[in-house]
Amino acid sequence: MKLRTLDQADVDGKRVFVRCGFDVPFTADGKIADDERIRECLETLRFLIDKGAHVIIASHNGRPKGKVIESLSMKLIGPHLSELLDEEVTTLSDCIGPEVKRVIAESKPREVILLENLRFHKEEKENDPEFAKELASLADVYVDEAFANLHRDHASMTGVAKLLPAYAGFRIQKEVDALSGITDNPVHPFVAIIGGAKISDKLLVIKRMLEIGDYVLLGGALANTMLKAQGMSVGKSLVEDKMMHIAHELTLTDNRLRVPVDVVTAKQIEAGVPTKKKAVANVQNDEYILDIGPDTINLYEMILREAKTIVWGGPMGYFELKPFDHGTCEIARIVGTCDARSVAGGGDTLDALAKSGYKDKITFTSTGGGAMLTFLEGKPMPALELLKQT
Ligand code: ADP
Ligand code: MG
Repeated sequence: MKLRTLDQADVDGKRVFVRCGFDVPFTADGKIADDERIRECLETLRFLIDKGAHVIIASHNGRPKGKVIESLSMKLIGPHLSELLDEEVTTLSDCIGPEVKRVIAESKPREVILLENLRFHKEEKENDPEFAKELASLADVYVDEAFANLHRDHASMTGVAKLLPAYAGFRIQKEVDALSGITDNPVHPFVAIIGGAKISDKLLVIKRMLEIGDYVLLGGALANTMLKAQGMSVGKSLVEDKMMHIAHELTLTDNRLRVPVDVVTAKQIEAGVPTKKKAVANVQNDEYILDIGPDTINLYEMILREAKTIVWGGPMGYFELKPFDHGTCEIARIVGTCDARSVAGGGDTLDALAKSGYKDKITFTSTGGGAMLTFLEGKPMPALELLKQT
């Protein structure tokens, strides 16, 4: 997939609107808990500053639902961005309006201006054309560097991109290259590991991976839903009952679709409670399935050791609580030490990988959970379509 990339853009001395994905988590006392999503944008921002552009950064954070929420303000991000760039950053109190226009009109080349959280205006998510026009009026060129948001048809993602010459930032280019390398020309054997909470989020990607891949290994709560659909008792485990029709959508006897053969259970979801390892057929009514078992880990390892391409989305168990992180950490170790090209994505998956110590052993970690899945499903993403070379 060929995108219009930043190196083709005429940005010297221009006002450039950069849509970033500064959707970062904060600690209870308002500090940035993880700044990866800011650091992902630095290469593009540095490039634009060095080209002498007026750099106008726009982003959302969280779900303020059209209201001003101080705890989601970009003012909490500006100082850290300034430190990372080693440049002064002016953080404004809004993203549109006369004051924003004035500051931008008076700005000099190389100046960095951070607009306030786009989602403080409900028009952002509604993709209001007037709001998009207001944003577009601030700049000459549009650069998209919000990969995690590419599947969203919001004003700053598609509305503005339609009104200005639009280019993909360096990070988006890297994501698209890594992911299309997997879907267009996977080196076989190609194995997908799909876990996490909801099978409804991941059903399409499971189907697609079965089409283009060799094995799909399931874990996490979504495997419980599969087990139940196969007629197993899963006790009190988290399942999506409304998804029982997966029994019809997926061929449950497909040998390439693997579900856990054994599991770790407990009677309460708490750290340090007594646990049992058992075959999936032996789960009792008063138990929760909270992790994959040792035989499943061995079985998955045998398949993964042969793989040349691995895609991973979703933890194998309730990894936030010990000892239910064991299956996920073991899979992280196996993927991290496999002789395969590996791609992993999803907020919880990346947290779990970081916890396991194997994150830097993964060939490519995607910053977008939903966006990565949508891309892998092969579904067109409206914001990405606008960045393609024509
Ligand atoms: P990602 O963010 O990587 O896409 P998801 O959000 O889909 O992953 O799923 C992660 C969540 O799934 C975690 O909160 C994890 O605790 C939960 N989960 C995984 N396995 C189980 C299980 N067996 N029972 C309950 N919750 C589970
Ligand atoms: Mg998640």
